[in-house]
Amino acid sequence: MSARILDGATLAATLREELRPRVAAFTARTGRPPGLGIILVGTHPPSEIYVRNKLKAASDIGCRADLLRLPDTASREQVVNAVRKLNESPAHDGILVQDPLPSQIGGSQAVFDVIDAAKDVDGFTPVSAGLLVQNRAVLAPCTPSGVIALLERSGIDIAGRHAVVIGRSDIVGKPMALLLLHRHATVTICHSKTADLPAITRQGDIVVAAVGRTAFVRPEYVKPGTTVIDVGINRVTDRSEVEALFPERSPRRADFEKRGAMVVGDVHPDVAEVAGALTPVPGGVGPLTIALLLRNTVTAAEHREP
Ligand code: NAD
Repeated sequence: MSARILDGATLAATLREELRPRVAAFTARTGRPPGLGIILVGTHPPSEIYVRNKLKAASDIGCRADLLRLPDTASREQVVNAVRKLNESPAHDGILVQDPLPSQIGGSQAVFDVIDAAKDVDGFTPVSAGLLVQNRAVLAPCTPSGVIALLERSGIDIAGRHAVVIGRSDIVGKPMALLLLHRHATVTICHSKTADLPAITRQGDIVVAAVGRTAFVRPEYVKPGTTVIDVGINRVTDRSEVEALFPERSPRRADFEKRGAMVVGDVHPDVAEVAGALTPVPGGVGPLTIALLLRNTVTAAEHREP
């Protein structure tokens, strides 16, 4: 058996197209487009790519997209001041502070805490987290919201199913569990201290892997027919690791040969033989995260100027 592949890239394109009329209507009504402001501190190469993709995706659907850049050496006060500037800006409906921040800032959450909750398009402020707990979120975190969109648009039932989330981060694991719970799944959250993890994940009708470890979820972790969502983004450069994961003639191997590196999820490729449905990496959850960021930006704009 080979799992049905849940194509996040195609759904992300559809979701972006669905936003165009909302952007056009908002712009016609208010005389300005929805605005997204991104704060990027330093020159972390993957962050540069993520930020470029987010800015481009926002302008492609007609939003205003601005980048505020701060140097590697920026203090927490400087970053907080940049956030305050966007909080006060009438032209910006969404604020995103690109994670990770340099160590002298003393943790990202201290900066997220300053973001005006009405503009919190990442859903990371305490106000957004509290509203999500109470199932009143206007702006929920993008990656887990993307997973929900993928499940719903793929016709995969959530209500009454047992969903097992591996990972308890504030960015993915916890909000993922809450969004599934609010859609009436029975939810189990697993983490690094969970005993006998495979015995628990094997009970899942839906398993979400948000661990940050290459090919961590192996075939024996899932029961046949399970929907497996792979949130992981792990950069692999070690040839022996690639050879162990992908057969010689696999297109993924060819890709690695060309680039000398590849992105692998938290789910082992052999899980495709057991799962009923599976998200690929790349092309699964990743593109949806940006689509949901845009949706949150448009939603924030509509709420700020109803
Ligand atoms: P994190 O490091 O904050 O959290 C990882 C979680 O995994 C922790 O809660 C930890 O308890 C759990 N964990 C670690 N080892 C474990 C083990 N042996 N058994 C069970 N649980 C274990 O990471 P994160 O920010 O939640 O991200 C998780 C993954 O998702 C990463 O690969 C990250 O790159 C990726 N990610 C992808 C997107 C996207 O757009 N697709 C967005 C955010 C994060």
